Amino acid sequence: MEVKKMSRKIMIFDTTLRDGEQAPGFSMNVEEKIKMALQLEKLGVDVIEAGFPISSPGDFEAVTKVAKTVKKPIVTGLCRANEKDIQVGWDALKHAVRPRIHTFIATSDIHMKYKLKMTPEEVLEIAVNAVKFARNLCDDVEFSAEDATRSDLDFLCKVVEEVIKAGAKTVNLPDTVGYTVPMEYEKIISTIMNKVPNVDKAVISVHCHNDLGLAVANSLAAVKAGAGQVECTINGIGERAGNCSLEEVVMALYVRKQLFDVETGINTREIYRSSRLLTSITGVDVQPNKAIVGKNAFAHEAGIHQDGVLKERTTYEIMTPESVGYPSNKLVLGKHSGRHAFVARLKEIGFELNNNEIEIAFAKFKELADKKKEVYDEDIAAIVENQISSHKEYFSLEYLNVTSGNTSIPTATLQVSNEKGDILTDASIGDGPVDASFRAIERVTGVEGRLKTYKIQAVSAGKDAQGEVSLTVEFEKSGYDISGKGYSTDIVQASALAWINALNRYLTRKNIGKNIEDKGI
Ligand SMILES: [Zn+2]
Repeated sequence: MEVKKMSRKIMIFDTTLRDGEQAPGFSMNVEEKIKMALQLEKLGVDVIEAGFPISSPGDFEAVTKVAKTVKKPIVTGLCRANEKDIQVGWDALKHAVRPRIHTFIATSDIHMKYKLKMTPEEVLEIAVNAVKFARNLCDDVEFSAEDATRSDLDFLCKVVEEVIKAGAKTVNLPDTVGYTVPMEYEKIISTIMNKVPNVDKAVISVHCHNDLGLAVANSLAAVKAGAGQVECTINGIGERAGNCSLEEVVMALYVRKQLFDVETGINTREIYRSSRLLTSITGVDVQPNKAIVGKNAFAHEAGIHQDGVLKERTTYEIMTPESVGYPSNKLVLGKHSGRHAFVARLKEIGFELNNNEIEIAFAKFKELADKKKEVYDEDIAAIVENQISSHKEYFSLEYLNVTSGNTSIPTATLQVSNEKGDILTDASIGDGPVDASFRAIERVTGVEGRLKTYKIQAVSAGKDAQGEVSLTVEFEKSGYDISGKGYSTDIVQASALAWINALNRYLTRKNIGKNIEDKGI
């Protein structure tokens, strides 16, 4: 009888809401943390580190609420190795279905001498006592030896052994300062696995920082050496250069499953959504060439690659965009792109053309691509719109009145005329004057949209300069973004004009197919 061997399970410990959130520019309020935690639950992480409860009342509240909200993952919070921290941490964590106390103290000579001003013996005692105290409150305790990678290895072995004896079920060996390299880290972890007599009583965890760009590589080396838990963050956010990126480490284990022979509980199809949620909450985008979730991660520019990918994806793709929940295989078009790729892109952004129209559009595209290195969706849209029907004014702005200020709720009242010349009136409140205007336009036109990008700049110098608002909107969940521009010396008016401009372009595009049918082409 053939018995199928089960792969070793690697726990994914997400610290986006603690280590990630700690980084400058990434702070989140309680509601945002809950939103993110629910997405992490969907993603299938095993542990959510929701904050550092004693660090602030806001963090305490966030950890409490996350503990009360998520059901499947273990919820943990960081506590220094003292009774007060641990007690406060527990007060927040105790509401969780599966609570875990995470406590830590530094074990490297440099941290013990200069930061803690303690001897190794003192540190060991504090660590053991902290774990014991935590175990009296909670069954699941994790201990972290801060700066483990710069700690004396014999001392580290001793600490690991003693905290396991004291009841720690997970022992984390962080590369706190992002100093180690894969071959060294692999050695440290395998030494722990081989020398600590009771190591089988706990899961060895790793937590790597990216100061040398090695956080993911180091984590993978540690997994190879026997680590059973990886601590990481969405988009790799975190202190300084960030933490090990969840999407990268998970996809490396997934794509190279045969090499590692491990599995995670992550639903990889939720990766892209998780990344996007985080960028929309923090307002900090990932770089375009970011592995797995960057704008270009699945873009193929060279014609030979494009053609290959369209024929057989695996020619140039080691994983499918769908496997990480990426919306579609975005081909960036350039002068090397072929007709096939051009037509595929046309369809993806909502244009269904007949052969004759495709010929004309493709010739124009080639002309443009000679002048421009990259041809964007908007360029293609402009080609087709100019060729088939210059975009129609389905709606135009007739009147806009906005009230806002610190004592009133921002309200926009507006009138638009439709293509028949009827005047339509509506009003809406909003988070601010621009938001109120957008909502009023949605109401009056009956077309919903989601603002994706918004940029404002002065067209010329001087106080009376015209403002140019450029924005992109996804209308009616169409799956593609439409851009619009508006100009005015009043930025709220410029914003409303830009939205209506985008809306008219969207409706033009949406109706092209219908017009063709009507004319029987
Ligand atoms: Zn860290």
